[in-house]
Amino acid sequence: MKRCVLCGDTFLSADWNCPGCGGSPPRSKGFVAFAPEASESNDGFSPSYFSRLVDLEAGHFWFEGRNQVILWGLRRYAREARSLMEVGCGTGVVLQAVHRDMPNMHLCGSEIFSNGLPFAAQRLPEADLMQMDARKMPFDAEFDAIGLFDVLEHIEDDRVVLRETWRSLKPGGCVLITVPQHPSLWSAVDEHSYHKRRYVAKELIAKLVEADFEILHITSFMTLLLPIFVLSRLHYRGLGRKLSPGEALEIHPLLNGLFSKILACERLLIQLGLKLPAGGSLFAVARRPPAAEK
Ligand SMILES: [Zn+2]
Repeated sequence: MKRCVLCGDTFLSADWNCPGCGGSPPRSKGFVAFAPEASESNDGFSPSYFSRLVDLEAGHFWFEGRNQVILWGLRRYAREARSLMEVGCGTGVVLQAVHRDMPNMHLCGSEIFSNGLPFAAQRLPEADLMQMDARKMPFDAEFDAIGLFDVLEHIEDDRVVLRETWRSLKPGGCVLITVPQHPSLWSAVDEHSYHKRRYVAKELIAKLVEADFEILHITSFMTLLLPIFVLSRLHYRGLGRKLSPGEALEIHPLLNGLFSKILACERLLIQLGLKLPAGGSLFAVARRPPAAEK
């Protein structure tokens, strides 16, 4: 169901005209826009970064490795899902991987910055893409699965995002989450990336439970590369100079190949059901309980 962000009315309709208040969202750069006031700038990200990201993402061990963990999570916990909404889809790098793997899945993507959406639209001509604030989602019991991939750490009030996600999921639907882990790894890269926090598993679990989710799976990943992350952070701290997010992603092709292989080994452990205790990132799958009412 759709949910009017102006009056809260829910309705079933092909378009976004609210039968309750007659309101309808404007469009920005060709995309329906639910929070146009925030689409150019806010404190969560730098929109000029998107064109740079598109070049860096392809084949990059970090994005590729994360995609593989996400695809595994979807196959394992949301096998029956017919619809997936990715909140904060950026340039569409995850949705594209999902589309290749699960061509029948109906895909939606949202971004607070309309700048990312044209890149995503190029990669995914058939997806429903929209400009939206994750703290105010225009849905009610709409999706079988929702993805929040490296999104929550950008938002001060992550609890409200989880509540909105819960409501936008169908009963029994799953949320899949990745976030950066270990506050002690906080570095200039987090600052440049406009992160509000790095998580510990306990905190993410508590916030999910508070939002009435059932935890299905939680594990660290980017575990085997953790020593390298730590060394590189110490290295740049030692240089006394700040690393831009673009620089932080640049990597020699040989190293990229090696890191990809290391992450493939790590994935075998995750797929065996091993819950890795530490790692650069945290991956969680949780469910809106099937019969719950709110
Ligand atoms: Zn309305």
